[in-house]
Amino acid sequence: MTFDLTPAMLRALPRYRIRRSSRARHVNLTINPTDGLVVVIPRGFDVRLIPGLIHEQRSWIDVRLEQLSDALNVDEIWQPPEQVVLPAVNETWTIGYRANPSATVRIVSCDDKVLRATGAIDNETKLRAALRRWLKRRAQATLPSRVAELAGMHGFNCARITIRHQRSRWGSCSTRNTISLNAKLMFVSAELVDHVLLHELCHTVHAHHGDAFQNLLASLTPNHRQQRTALRKAWSAIPSWAHR
Ligand SMILES: [Zn+2]
Repeated sequence: MTFDLTPAMLRALPRYRIRRSSRARHVNLTINPTDGLVVVIPRGFDVRLIPGLIHEQRSWIDVRLEQLSDALNVDEIWQPPEQVVLPAVNETWTIGYRANPSATVRIVSCDDKVLRATGAIDNETKLRAALRRWLKRRAQATLPSRVAELAGMHGFNCARITIRHQRSRWGSCSTRNTISLNAKLMFVSAELVDHVLLHELCHTVHAHHGDAFQNLLASLTPNHRQQRTALRKAWSAIPSWAHR
């Protein structure tokens, strides 16, 4: 028996930890101020049954969690996203979740901008990592063609492009003209993406930020000052799962 959880159902469930116990004979739900809701399961218990069990016992769980809400700091509890909005490419993806006993989380893109997340979806770390892997694949599928387009338009030699998960830079350009782009660029507007791409393409001509570089960039992007400011602010709009 498996549970097909709609994103709404999954978000409605309180977050919980699973504790495997070799001594437990039955599944047992407990709540404490440190760990919140803990599901203690005996050896061999089918974890796919857990969301349904929690769903059935919601009334006392909610009362108890409410009593402990200050201690548990519920505002900081992360919930799986229902959507991924990518302004860079004007795409909105809806996510459907399905738990299964796999040890990992798999995310596949389907038609009509739907993502299916399957596997250990109640494992926050693994789900977030899977979302980041998907984001990188989507960036890989869309950003390099825009670099080629801009390079062609402005007469740059198109460099090799890699997509990475940088912590604090939108992009960089190596001395061998390899442009590294941050997958998180997918969360900024197409205009700001172009600004970053042009900045890095200008580095294929000038490997510094001196006057020659600034003049070249200004000739391609008249609003470059405002865009730089906007890019600095854009970090705050990135969903937490994209960071780590
Ligand atoms: Zn630079």
